[in-house]
Amino acid sequence: MPDIIVIGGGMTGLATACALAGAGLAVSVLEARQLGAMASTWTLGGVRQSGRDPAELPLARAAVARWSQWHLELGAETGYRRKGNLRLARNPAEAAAIRAMVKTQRALGLNLEFLADIKDIRAIAPAIGEGVLAASFCPDDGHADPDMTIAALAGLARRKGVTLQEGMPALRLITTAGRVTGVETPGGRLLADRVIVACGLHAAGLLEPLGIRLPMAAKRVCVMQTTPQPPAFGQVFGVANADCAGRQEIDGRFRITTGIGDWPGELATWSEAGLRPSFAEIAGLIARTVPILPLLAASGLERVWGGLIDLTPDALPVLDAPADWPGLVIGAGFSGHGFGIGPVSGTILKALALGEATEFELSPFRLDRFEPHAAFAPLTLHG
Ligand SMILES: Cc1cc2nc3c(=O)[nH]c(=O)nc-3n(C[C@H](O)[C@H](O)[C@H](O)COP(=O)(O)OP(=O)(O)OC[C@H]3O[C@@H](n4cnc5c(N)ncnc54)[C@H](O)[C@@H]3O)c2cc1C
Repeated sequence: MPDIIVIGGGMTGLATACALAGAGLAVSVLEARQLGAMASTWTLGGVRQSGRDPAELPLARAAVARWSQWHLELGAETGYRRKGNLRLARNPAEAAAIRAMVKTQRALGLNLEFLADIKDIRAIAPAIGEGVLAASFCPDDGHADPDMTIAALAGLARRKGVTLQEGMPALRLITTAGRVTGVETPGGRLLADRVIVACGLHAAGLLEPLGIRLPMAAKRVCVMQTTPQPPAFGQVFGVANADCAGRQEIDGRFRITTGIGDWPGELATWSEAGLRPSFAEIAGLIARTVPILPLLAASGLERVWGGLIDLTPDALPVLDAPADWPGLVIGAGFSGHGFGIGPVSGTILKALALGEATEFELSPFRLDRFEPHAAFAPLTLHG
């Protein structure tokens, strides 16, 4: 019998499993599909502090510090590159919004500059198009490779003795005398001292039978990936209204995302095919990004896909061990930020599972912060 079951083999679940196994616990990860099957490989892969909610900023900062050494801990490359993050303005209103954002974020202690001229922007990123008016630049932000990171986490987990079961969905949480004591799977009942629910959008459905409401909306983002291009752009870019973002991957491909949109589908029956972007969505994304990175016009288009975001009402995650359900820990609702803060989410969820203190103020991430009928905050997405 494992000490702890982790439901979900994405960034959050795997980072948590590695942290727990590192503390000597026997851990079993249940993954319904394959490791990294959902948001953790759909992602842009941005690792960013700039523009984060003040409540999440300490986590993002700690994560940025961790990413530069994480490959040493994991024993394999993550593709992490700290080349900075540019938020671009394409008109005077966007420039004013970015200037104001820089002021607010600098007051929080972030290393963020306002670049008021295309010449200053091109001194940092020569590939940016002429029409861009201004930008913020955070040199400490960066990006990592989602596939390499998931593979690195899985490799460490295996070496530490974690049982990784793919194609093994958690069907139901088992409770005994007011405690969560295990998980029902198609392979039978698996019992453990504690269960960590880290299965992204699907977390709400598992928690509901316990009377736990985790409000999350499923939002859709489209992604395109080009053929490999010579190295030309090291940063992650976003734009003031978040209608596109992108980066060049370490193999030369550009990975570019749309902004966030509604998704009319059903979570119980989603499929890769059903999420796939339309011709018009990709045409619109190309039209928005070529002026930003003109070299994209000559690139081949290799792959497109759609991804879902687990958006909470305040766009902050739930990292909590609810007092009325001993044995249960929840890490979900990352609202488009869970890749970058993954190393730290894993440490926090491990601490919550073991009843340890952490250096972070976790009250903004408690489940009971949500009003019964809280409306969803507008979400911006950008690296
Ligand atoms: C297009 C896009 C761009 C993004 N860009 C960024 C970015 O630039 N920077 C950033 O920080 N974040 C970004 N994000 C968000 C980030 O990718 C996610 O927040 C993060 O990957 C969440 O990881 P997770 O492990 O919590 O969830 P997921 O990766 O979704 O993992 C959940 C796992 O649980 C499994 N599962 C579901 N139900 C069950 C069940 N019943 N039993 C067992 N397993 C189950 C799923 O198959 C899945 O593998 C982006 C997301 C998208 C979609």
